[in-house]
Amino acid sequence: QIDHEVHRTENSSKIIANKPVQYAALCDVFEKLEEETGRLKNLAIASEFFCDILKRGVNQDVAEQNLIEVTYLMINRLGPDYEPDLELGLGETLLLKALAQSTGRELRHIKDDYHKAGDIGKVAQISRSRQPIMFKPKPLTIHQVFQNLAEVAKSTGNSSQSRKIGIINRMLAACAGQEAKFLMRSLEGKLRINFGEKSVLVALAKAFAEFECGTGNHSESEADLNALVRAQDQIKEAFAQTPNYEMIIHNCLKYGVGHVAEHCTLKPGIPVKPMLAKPTKSITEIMDTLQDRKFTCEYKYDGERAQVHLLPDGSMRVYSRNSENMTERYPDLIPVIDELRAKNPEIRSLILDSECVAWNLESHEILPFQILATRKRKEVQEKDIKVRVCLFVFDVLYFNGESIIQKPLNERREYLDKHVIEIPEKLQFATRLDSTSVDEMSAFLDQSVHDSCEGLMIKALFGKESHYEPSKRSKYWLKLKKDYLEGVGDSLDLVVIGGYIGKGKRTGWYGGFLLASYNQDTGEYESICKIGTGFSEELLASLTEQLKPKETPKPKPSYVYDKDNSNAEPDVWFEPSMVFEVKVADLTTSPLYKSGASYFGNRDKGISLRFPRFIQIRTDKATEDATSSEQIVEMYESQAVVQS
Ligand code: ATP
Repeated sequence: QIDHEVHRTENSSKIIANKPVQYAALCDVFEKLEEETGRLKNLAIASEFFCDILKRGVNQDVAEQNLIEVTYLMINRLGPDYEPDLELGLGETLLLKALAQSTGRELRHIKDDYHKAGDIGKVAQISRSRQPIMFKPKPLTIHQVFQNLAEVAKSTGNSSQSRKIGIINRMLAACAGQEAKFLMRSLEGKLRINFGEKSVLVALAKAFAEFECGTGNHSESEADLNALVRAQDQIKEAFAQTPNYEMIIHNCLKYGVGHVAEHCTLKPGIPVKPMLAKPTKSITEIMDTLQDRKFTCEYKYDGERAQVHLLPDGSMRVYSRNSENMTERYPDLIPVIDELRAKNPEIRSLILDSECVAWNLESHEILPFQILATRKRKEVQEKDIKVRVCLFVFDVLYFNGESIIQKPLNERREYLDKHVIEIPEKLQFATRLDSTSVDEMSAFLDQSVHDSCEGLMIKALFGKESHYEPSKRSKYWLKLKKDYLEGVGDSLDLVVIGGYIGKGKRTGWYGGFLLASYNQDTGEYESICKIGTGFSEELLASLTEQLKPKETPKPKPSYVYDKDNSNAEPDVWFEPSMVFEVKVADLTTSPLYKSGASYFGNRDKGISLRFPRFIQIRTDKATEDATSSEQIVEMYESQAVVQS
């Protein structure tokens, strides 16, 4: 158990008895956010609510507890994303059944309504409003809803289905107004309030800045604006190092939002948001960007990002690119880390950043990502593992109680070289070349591809610019992929939101797909292109099998596409569940697609892709990790510069 959790449980009942916030108040905010599409207005709505909570807390603990629960309900999680079983996302069958039971309506009528509305929340609200009520139920509090949802998320085993339905029914019986709508949407795992996690963080920063300035109302004075900017930077930095709202809110209240990042630093057992790279198209472009800075080149391995934590108690954890705990998926890494500790008993705690790559023990070679993707993801037993892996370590972020992300890369490498001892074919350092000669870099790029890598990562080596910046896509971390030297510099990872019925040789399968980028500010999926190239017949058959159960009668409210043009609609819509990696010739604007449109300030025209070609399914990416609409705009703009 981590201490912040203990803190929460100890205080929770006392606090909530003191001053409960009603669920209806949060639902009012959700309703406003859903109706409003302007980002600034949405930020103001959310931050005002957060600020009210801070002001009404009789003491700091009350405010803290209320704010933590409200924040989690707003991002629709029940705890940090690296902790298991705290995610909602119940199947529609169970939810429709619960709704039928609690409202006394026939299941078939509920199902009909659902197929018409395509939104379980709306069906719940209408069903509840038609229900005769004898006694006005006691209003639901945020704390009750939070606790009940947590109980639903955590219940497993044989009778879990009926237990879940029981809890949902009790909550539904107490719902009034629009509460049933948002409760059901929360349970389904899709709130549809146009307000992504990134915006929640900014709203929190704004609320704390306004709360701290005393009046709770923000003025336009320079001092207040500076405080606001600092608050945003601090909260983002704190979240990147400690993605845990309980700790962040606690430290904001204790030390002030302007100092929160100093108190939310790396800790083994809490995954830090990984640093990311910017795509580049040529070695010349790299030279232009990095100019006379000293940099280093490393192989870009094609596997799965693995952040490896060695905890002081002797245990280890492996976290994915999106902070998921993958330790159980890689039981074969436990003996490797034990061996590492045995080789250097001085290691007490450590965080390594690495790429976990499929490895052929016979030919002593790297295997492609597609082979790694065949490994089981659940209930993995060491004895059943067929695909072996090797960790290619490229960074060290923490050593024996000390965060070293704010040291330059050359110094972090010294830690690596001194304390981490390579174990051939199990744990090796990323192959590197510290050279700024174009010829040497070209040769190194060729060599990386020859050694089954994707290309190179080019990183600043000295000074502040080479610090490890959690969650940032940094221009001092560049990726150069051999395949895309002539294209837009990178492949795109896009969410499959629709399908087209196959014709001719593709009859019986989907013949093409509608793809979308993810807008991190609004939490929406914005249509970007139709794709039908790059698929074998076997693949289409398998994709049809995988995506058929994800068909949904209507587009999700979070899908942004041209609703007035039937050409923009696919034959079938899907739940967002799969990410395709796509290679593309270039980006262009189009009235038919909506990617990035909101960033142009013109919702009529978005960005689309020319000649998209399927490469592979990105099994390691959640749909929220797809290429963001903001990145698409950046790529489009950098391409415009290149062309001009
Ligand atoms: P991609 O599709 O290129 O893997 P991505 O969106 O997953 O992109 P990027 O930040 O764009 O992530 O590319 C960097 C990724 O490359 C890292 O997340 C990591 O998984 C992988 N990688 C492989 N070798 C290295 C290395 N030497 N240094 C850093 N990252 C590396």
